[in-house]
Amino acid sequence: MTLRVLVVEDDREIRALMQSSLAVEGFTVQTAVSLREASALLRHAPPDVVLLDLGLPDGDGLELVRQIRQSQALPILILSARHQEAQKIQALDAGADDYLVKPFSVGELLARMRVALRHRGTALLAAVTQHELDDLRVDLDTRRVQRAGETLHLTPTEYKLLARLVRSAGRVVTHRQLLADVWGPEYTEHTHYLRLYMAQLRAKIERDPAEPRHLLTETGVGYRLAVV
Ligand code: CA
Repeated sequence: MTLRVLVVEDDREIRALMQSSLAVEGFTVQTAVSLREASALLRHAPPDVVLLDLGLPDGDGLELVRQIRQSQALPILILSARHQEAQKIQALDAGADDYLVKPFSVGELLARMRVALRHRGTALLAAVTQHELDDLRVDLDTRRVQRAGETLHLTPTEYKLLARLVRSAGRVVTHRQLLADVWGPEYTEHTHYLRLYMAQLRAKIERDPAEPRHLLTETGVGYRLAVV
């Protein structure tokens, strides 16, 4: 089965580049240059994944994220320029799966698409409960966290934070999402909690906490648990 990708991008060069490189990888590619065109395509020929530029001629890509999330669970990846940080975070909070900052490589795009598709796919069948990379093993069924075969002792909050990242392994989770899910919706502005607990968690999990291999910082946005 070929997967259908909808590319919503008003920049002609980027659009053409994405169309050809995704077609080479075997995807069926549809393109839209505006929110209006994208909405029409989403209604008539729903894709399997959406790649969405934020700055579009007839509005903000964020509107499309909200519209899609009212009825559809397909993966949405944001394509953003560096200066669109606030919009990018809003889009993630509104339900986008991940983002790429322009310029990005095709390899990076494909890797992110695979992760997003896997998550959306498995999310329908079963939640992600196992994570393994290098010497780190996390099993959410038994609540066991091991590094190089040794069981680590995490506080309840450290564990909740790690578990939240495991459920979204490979994808960025915003500060706001982490604070809401680990501490509660009334804590979304308490970013200092997150910094403190992330430092504690890195001290236990990372071989070198100053150069994290697992718990990656997405500057200004959030954190990502590495999968490769
Ligand atoms: Ca644009």
